[in-house]
Amino acid sequence: MSHLMNTYGRQPIAFSRGEGVWLYDEAGNKYLDALAGIAVSTLGHNHPRLVEAISRQAATLIHTSNLYRIPLQEQLADRLTACSGMDEVFLANTGCEANEAAIKLARLYGHRKGVEKPAVVVMEQSFHGRTLATLSATGNRKVQVGFEPLVAGFVRVPFNDLGALEKVALNCPSVVAVLFEPVQGEGGIHVADADYMRAVRALCDRHDWLMMLDEVQCGVGRTGKWFGFQHADLLPDVMSLAKGLGSGVPIGACLAAGRATGTFQPGNHGSTFGGNPLACAAALTTLDVIEGDGLMARAEALGERIRSGFAGALDGVSGIRAIRGVGLMIGIELDRPCGVLVERARDAGVLINVTAERVVRLLPPLTFGEADADELVGRLAPLVREFLEA
Ligand SMILES: *Cc1c(COP(=O)(O)O)cnc(C)c1O
Repeated sequence: MSHLMNTYGRQPIAFSRGEGVWLYDEAGNKYLDALAGIAVSTLGHNHPRLVEAISRQAATLIHTSNLYRIPLQEQLADRLTACSGMDEVFLANTGCEANEAAIKLARLYGHRKGVEKPAVVVMEQSFHGRTLATLSATGNRKVQVGFEPLVAGFVRVPFNDLGALEKVALNCPSVVAVLFEPVQGEGGIHVADADYMRAVRALCDRHDWLMMLDEVQCGVGRTGKWFGFQHADLLPDVMSLAKGLGSGVPIGACLAAGRATGTFQPGNHGSTFGGNPLACAAALTTLDVIEGDGLMARAEALGERIRSGFAGALDGVSGIRAIRGVGLMIGIELDRPCGVLVERARDAGVLINVTAERVVRLLPPLTFGEADADELVGRLAPLVREFLEA
């Protein structure tokens, strides 16, 4: 009997080491990692530059406190603002914390302009985390049930539906912000239309709402650009990051720009661990390698290769609803629940995930190569075909 709280439906496997895009189980079997710890292991496993950077940082200084200046935080904020166009950064440890910071920032912004009960518009099928505020913002009842009373102050609309948002603008004077994922991850890899994103930007400007993007899963190079919003050629007011930012070392970030800049002042927000030197060294190295090794262009090309590979291999198979995504954020939607494919793929030496019950989700490390992409298609496509034709 394990003494761990029973919070996860875990698979009966443990990995003892990783190397590049491969994980090895305790019996020595190897698995192609097409999930990257849910979009976390940006540089794959045991990347020599990351190992070197965090080893050196661990031997120098792991933690001080946000009571003091932390030069590596300042460097990381410089890097993140330079590659995003945003103005300032708060460092946290996780995605839900980054979103908590965003939601707090929106409320503070609202109160400062005299809105008594500020509300944030959120989307159906969204996922923002497991803390009380972020599970309340999440568009999935399963995440919320049993944890009522939910945090108030959220208004929900369908994703990619401008009309619904315009109705909110007419009917809800307490709204101060809109929060959504440029690519919904947990919800099944739904990509926001660039036109929709731009229209939301315009609507936010018209009503003095903050446009807040949860890029916890899609940010940091995965979609072929640093950030999802860059596909729509706009700048949000607030953006949250986490998952891939530290390549496995926990770190999250909430960034602000334009009207949102300067909202937090001393005493408004904080984190004991947030942005400690070790985590910042991991994030800086992750950004360096993504840029230096051209991993964004590679993500775009490989995503294309994987999607067209599956489209070819599954051509004419009935039961494929869609093969979609952007860069290395890929979903294959089937016409039926397909959770069993996770186990079948694992037995075939491939690690994948199924989300929203019927969407096979692929989130490989950005260090994936062409041969890895072909191997993924070669191993997984026949399993999908067999599953659908059974
Ligand atoms: C995973 C995820 C979160 C939550 O991140 P945690 O680090 O688990 O708190 C929030 N938003 C999105 C879009 C995510 O994919």
